[in-house]
Amino acid sequence: MQLDSPNQFESYAILGRAFGYPNCCVAWWIAGMDHRVPYSPEPLTDWENTQFVPCPKCREKFATDLIREIKQRRTVSELFPLASGNVRPEDLAKDFSLAEWADVFASASKAMAVVSQHQD
Ligand SMILES: [Zn+2]
Repeated sequence: MQLDSPNQFESYAILGRAFGYPNCCVAWWIAGMDHRVPYSPEPLTDWENTQFVPCPKCREKFATDLIREIKQRRTVSELFPLASGNVRPEDLAKDFSLAEWADVFASASKAMAVVSQHQD
């Protein structure tokens, strides 16, 4: 996959934010989906029953702390680790607060910066 439009980054960032994942992990996950970036986020042992792929930094954290953070940040009604695949970012973002939008733009722009380093 090649991520070329800011809308793609924003849509994925909305998904990650709605499911409560930390900004660093969302940015890492989005950037890694672009085939030009030299890694791809694969499901990890211990997390394989979830949709969540922790970034390398968060893998150092205690899973219980990370899960607590994710649960507190979640805006979707499904409890972690549930994450329905059939959701539209525009619906998830409808009720986002300014702080939640700030998280979306933080992770989207971080991912864009990583991808732009690997463009031709
Ligand atoms: Zn992280």
